[in-house]
Amino acid sequence: MRLIPDLSMSEAVLRAMELISTHTCIKFSTEPSDVMIRMESDPTQNFCYAEIGHVRPHQKFSFVSACYSSGAAAHELIHSLGFIHTHQRSDRDQYLDFKMNLEDMTPDMRDQYKIYEGQTLYVPYDYGSVMHYPDESGNYYPIEKNIRMTDTMGTEMLAFYDYLMINKYYECSCDTDLKCQNNGYPNPANCSQCNCPYGYGGDDCSRRAEPGQTVIATLEPQTVTIKLDAGFRNGDERQVDFIYSYLWIEAPANKSIVTRIELVSKEKCVPGCSRGGLEIKINDDDRLTSRRFCCGTGQFDRSFHSPTIVMAYNSVGMDEYIIHYRHDP
Ligand SMILES: [Zn+2]
Repeated sequence: MRLIPDLSMSEAVLRAMELISTHTCIKFSTEPSDVMIRMESDPTQNFCYAEIGHVRPHQKFSFVSACYSSGAAAHELIHSLGFIHTHQRSDRDQYLDFKMNLEDMTPDMRDQYKIYEGQTLYVPYDYGSVMHYPDESGNYYPIEKNIRMTDTMGTEMLAFYDYLMINKYYECSCDTDLKCQNNGYPNPANCSQCNCPYGYGGDDCSRRAEPGQTVIATLEPQTVTIKLDAGFRNGDERQVDFIYSYLWIEAPANKSIVTRIELVSKEKCVPGCSRGGLEIKINDDDRLTSRRFCCGTGQFDRSFHSPTIVMAYNSVGMDEYIIHYRHDP
């Protein structure tokens, strides 16, 4: 028998609040007079849930150890801020092959999967949104041309576009001359810095995010190793939030970069690659989540960005990858 520890949720919820309040103008407070949405834990529930938006004065939340991570807690907080699931957006049928029969579901279940018409869509559809469910039942999967995004769905990491969605809806903005690079934008929580797409850092997103390293691709294949140790090697517990490592692969102008990942450590094949994984940012819009890798032992990708950003993230144990890279002739 494997014992699952009863993980305390408070650390995860506080970290989720920190993530949201350092990237948006949303603030969390323990002063009752400040409160617009009051959080009360609901001990009658044994799953994680939150109501959507401000629906009653003493709103119920439920955080249990099954949803132990800052991303899973943020998912519930973002519901309470008024947002539905990504897979319930009115445009979801352009992205998902949805085979579930809503008619046969209980009303509670149907509310998790039906389309909500009439919502304003502030950001593009992102399979890597923290508000997207995984395809655990094989009943809804990415459309054919995006089929490789299956493991990306169901993440426990807030996407760049999740924060932007909150900022747009709440009209969070900055009055500043700060010019952000690489599709960043001034951070409403701190207007002297930019919110950057993953992989970019510095105050204006012009630098590589840390920790990380930069390599130069040549015609000859080269390799670089990424090791990311999140501790908790016995696997029963894990970090509430991910640790990250960024690799920039640079190439001469107009050369595409070809990469091959080789997984050295044990694979962590869970829905949404939500324990750890690797993402090579190949989307034309590199603010969007690209395919995440955590299942199998390797994968090929081609990127037209220089630098191409490789992001490794981990919350449990030791991950080790070898990245083979070169540019095209
Ligand atoms: Zn939800």
